[in-house]
Amino acid sequence: MQRRLVLLALGIAVALTVFALVRSRSRTATPEAPNVLVIAIDTLRADRLGCLGNERGLTPALDRLAGEGVSFRRAFAHAPWTLPSFASIFTSQTPEEHGAGGKLGEFRALAPEHTTLAERFAESGWKTGAIVNVDFLGRAFGLMQGFDVVDERFSNDNDHLRDAHATTDAALAWIEKERANAFFLLVHYFDPHARYAPPKEFRERFADPRDQHSDAFEFGTRDQVVLWRSGRIHPTQDDFRRAEQLYDGEVAYTDAEVGRLIDGLAAAGLDANTLVVVVADHGEEFLDHGDWEHGHSLHDELLHVPMLLRQKGRIAARVVEGPVGTIDLAPTVCGLAGVPPSPDFRGRDLSPALAGSALSPHSLCAFGNFWGAPHASLRTAEWKLIERPGGGAGGSTVSELYRWTEDAREKVDRAASEPAARARLAEDLALLRKVFVGRARQGPRVRMSPEQRERLKNNGYVGGGDEDER
Ligand SMILES: [Zn+2]
Repeated sequence: MQRRLVLLALGIAVALTVFALVRSRSRTATPEAPNVLVIAIDTLRADRLGCLGNERGLTPALDRLAGEGVSFRRAFAHAPWTLPSFASIFTSQTPEEHGAGGKLGEFRALAPEHTTLAERFAESGWKTGAIVNVDFLGRAFGLMQGFDVVDERFSNDNDHLRDAHATTDAALAWIEKERANAFFLLVHYFDPHARYAPPKEFRERFADPRDQHSDAFEFGTRDQVVLWRSGRIHPTQDDFRRAEQLYDGEVAYTDAEVGRLIDGLAAAGLDANTLVVVVADHGEEFLDHGDWEHGHSLHDELLHVPMLLRQKGRIAARVVEGPVGTIDLAPTVCGLAGVPPSPDFRGRDLSPALAGSALSPHSLCAFGNFWGAPHASLRTAEWKLIERPGGGAGGSTVSELYRWTEDAREKVDRAASEPAARARLAEDLALLRKVFVGRARQGPRVRMSPEQRERLKNNGYVGGGDEDER
């Protein structure tokens, strides 16, 4: 009898626990504890947005979002390529700390002991979902930690990826299904990434006149990326100008699909209780510093990214000058949603800036080089230092120094003419790296399946042979 009572009590305890768990997993969004829709646009340069000064009319939807919320005029990524940069956005740590990234042939996943933004929301009762379109964002690389549902679709050749239209369809379907719950949804668009091949309507509007009615001029194929990197093709300046206009067409197409997603959110009546976040992982270079694509440098055509926040009726519209880092996003989103941030988040909660307060001066760093030995940069209120390996046997370092606030395109290298500033930043950067080395928790080496290796190879991310096994 007594035993049965104990069992009964145990049963009640278990039932209560299950009830509590189920309850905590079924909250509904309120303006104070809103849904979160993170729109992550791969390879989007900040200078393509109309609200950030572009005059080609590429981004009416993003400009409208910016006008209804907060636009960060100077937001910077912490790495120049997808895996480490998104890991920084999700963990609020720099690549030197979270350890995800590595380089071609030695990719490192995000270690499971890291806490991601999605995990914080999942633990707080939000339903979490991700719609992603590139391997580096997928489960195999550790970045899907915290997502209950992951819809990952990977292209085998950069041409047959799930395009922005299908991505928006998937997002709207997910929202419709989950609208009764408080949700945290990541929607990743990959279209601006090479190869640049916008749909007809956007080709006609934004391509070079020679390419408006013809797709004979191809730029950014998997082979071209690999051949360019190894110096085996030499496109002309004119080729790059044409490529850039095709890229603009892809940006405009993606913007139109973001617009459709935002309109769908409004039509579902979820405007007031959904915090919309827009961010990019990196930009794209078109000979700004003599190179092409991304992953290879820490110049601002790769680091300067859009960052927007909108929640109608809750966040007043304003422009925040910054500078801010994309690692500031996770603590800020937690702050706005009333979700406790992880103690491991290193970024700042930017809520005071959203209320109009000035941000205190803050330095920002970036790390990485997809193709080899890492580069590092440190940005203060006035200066930006970039250090990269000089090549040769001596292990020398090449430094570049820019007065970035007045030389946004980084055209005048002052490393030689401002030795005191260069030395000061180099010392601070060395100190930061020392601190990070003590903290770094590197993730496991990614052992890719033959299919994954083939996909990344086809997307220009892996060269011939078996570099990934070295
Ligand atoms: Zn990317």
